[in-house]
Amino acid sequence: MLVGCKQKDLDISSFDNWDLGLGAPICIAGPCSVETPEQLDLTVAALVSEGIKIIRGGVWKPRTRPNSFEGVGAKALPWIKEVKDKYKVKFAIEVASPIHVEEALKFGIDIFWIGARSTVNPFTVQEIANSLKGVDMPVLVKNPVNADLALWIGALERFHQAGIKKLGAIHRGFSNFNDKTYRNSPMWQIPLGLKTYLPEIPLLNDPSHISGRRDLIPQIAQMALDLNFDGLMIESHIDPEKAWSDAFQQLHPSDLGQLLRALKTRKVDVDNPIFQSQLELIREQIDDVDRELLEILSRRMSLVEKAGEYKKLNNVTVFQRERWKKVFETRPEWAQALRLNPDFAKDLFQLIHTESIKKQTEVKERIDYPNIKG
Ligand code: PEP
Ligand code: MN
Repeated sequence: MLVGCKQKDLDISSFDNWDLGLGAPICIAGPCSVETPEQLDLTVAALVSEGIKIIRGGVWKPRTRPNSFEGVGAKALPWIKEVKDKYKVKFAIEVASPIHVEEALKFGIDIFWIGARSTVNPFTVQEIANSLKGVDMPVLVKNPVNADLALWIGALERFHQAGIKKLGAIHRGFSNFNDKTYRNSPMWQIPLGLKTYLPEIPLLNDPSHISGRRDLIPQIAQMALDLNFDGLMIESHIDPEKAWSDAFQQLHPSDLGQLLRALKTRKVDVDNPIFQSQLELIREQIDDVDRELLEILSRRMSLVEKAGEYKKLNNVTVFQRERWKKVFETRPEWAQALRLNPDFAKDLFQLIHTESIKKQTEVKERIDYPNIKG
C-alpha cells in the first residue's frame, strides 16, 4: 500500500549529491549497541579488517519494554572517540533528543541517524532538527515504524528546513502483525516511492532490522542492491550470540565480510544498444499484458454489477459470506497451480473484493434512488 504524498514537492536542489566520498554502495556496519570498551574495540578492529569505514553503534537504545537494556548512554561516547582515533573510522549513532545531539557533538560523532520510533513523531523530529540548526552534519532518517511514506518524507523535510544538507534515508521495514517471516515487513514499494519522490537522497537498506534473523540478511541485502539502493546498514558484533540487544540478527564481522564480497552490484543502465532494444521489447509485451489484465478486470466488474442487480431484484444482501469464503479458498490454490505466490493472490483478491462490494453497493443505491444517482 503506497501512501500518496500530495504535498508540494520538496526542494531538493540544495541537497549535496552525498556519497560520503567512500564510493558506492555505502556500507555502515557495527553493533546494535555499544556495550563495553572491549566489545567496541574488538568489533571495530574486525570490521576495519573487512574494509568497513563507517561504524554504527547504539548509545541510547529505544526499547519496546522498560527494564530491558536501554544502552549504556553518554559514557559510551569517550569509548567511541577512542576507536575513531585509533582506527580512523567515521561513527554513526542514533539521536532521539536535543540532549543526545548536544552530548554526541562534544565527542566528534560523524553521522546521526533518527530511529524509526522517533520518525513517527513530528514533535520529536522537529526538536531534534531545531537542535541541529547550524550544524553541518549528515543525518540519516529511518522510515517510521508504520507504513506511511508521507511521515517519512515529512521528517526529511523538517531536517532539510533546519538547514541539514547531507540527508539520507534508511529503510528498516514496517511493523506488521500478519508477517510471519520478517521482524519488520520490507514493503519495498514504500522506499521505492521515496526514491521516486526524492531521487537525490541516498537510500540505504537495513536488512538487520527487517529480518530480525541472521539467515535472511543476504537475500534482503541483495534485493536492495538489485533495486538500486545506495547502500546498507548492517548490525555486526564480535560475539553476536552474546549481544545485549538484537542477538538474533547480528553478524560476526567475518560473516559480514563474506556477505559483502558475495553481493552482486548491478549497473542501473547498460549502454549496449542490443540490451536496450531487447529490454524495450519485453517492456512492450508487459504493457500489452497489463492492458489485457485491465480488460479482464473490467469484464469481471461488469459481471459483478450484473450479479448485484440480480441480488437486488431478489432482495438478497450484497455481501454473502459463503461465496467469498469460497473465492478466498480457491483463488490462492489456482494461483499456486499457475506457479504464482498464493499470498499475492490473497492480497489481490482482497482488493478485488473491496472493489466488487463497492460496485454492488453502487448498483443497489442506483436502484434504490434512481432519481438521485441518475
Ligand atoms: C537500531 O538501528 O539499532 C534501531 C533501534 O533501529 P530502528 O530504529 O530501525 O528500530
Ligand atoms: Mn538493533
